Amino acid sequence: MSELSDLYQEVILDHNKNPRNYREIANADKTADGHNPLCGDQLKVFLSMEDDRVTDVAFVGSGCAISKASASMMTQAVKGKNREEAEILFDEFHRMVRGEMDEETEDNHLGKLKIFAGVREFPARVKCASLSWHTMKAALENEEIVSTE
Ligand code: ZN
Repeated sequence: MSELSDLYQEVILDHNKNPRNYREIANADKTADGHNPLCGDQLKVFLSMEDDRVTDVAFVGSGCAISKASASMMTQAVKGKNREEAEILFDEFHRMVRGEMDEETEDNHLGKLKIFAGVREFPARVKCASLSWHTMKAALENEEIVSTE
């Protein structure tokens, strides 16, 4: 168990310090702003689409280490996926952090994202971890603003 939390710490710190796909996309096909008032996390997600596929995804914003690391890993997970696959990942991630799925026994596509399973022990952190996912989904659905409240 402590091995898992060491790995968790390491991954969060790495992505927080060096977030992947942290940039704006000029002329993005879809964007959305996400806000988690509970913690103060704020981010903007950019999507480039080709037909139904996410060809590029990026984010900018400010927030706690968990929200930033989660956004960073969300962009890595969603890039190259089609809309349906991205929505399945959203659903799996969302259920995992809310403790509604056992990611070890139920079939899923979470892979490295399982690192965030531990946040379900910390209800206040669940929204930090899921903010970028809600924002990505809002962008896909052409909603421009999402608040986790
Ligand atoms: Zn936060």
